Amino acid sequence: MYEFDCDACGERFEALVPADTRTTECRLCGSAETHRVLSAPGAPWKLVKTVGAARQQEARNAKLHAETKRRFKETRQKAREAKKGGGANPGGS
Ligand SMILES: [Zn+2]
Repeated sequence: MYEFDCDACGERFEALVPADTRTTECRLCGSAETHRVLSAPGAPWKLVKTVGAARQQEARNAKLHAETKRRFKETRQKAREAKKGGGANPGGS
């Protein structure tokens, strides 16, 4: 577990990454412009906070996954319908 600072939005977050990882995607804005914060690992209050945050993140991730799945299905269905419709406008605009 390492701490990262996001250069794009300033978010500080923790990520479970290999020890030699210098940068990872920002949890908040998805930017790759992050850098690892070298700090002593977790004070107790921080660990407690991390568990809660991890749970929150998990819930958020699950929601996001469901959303992504749903959107994927929608997109696929739309593509199928567009095909059925004769393909007058293949690329869209
Ligand atoms: Zn960010």
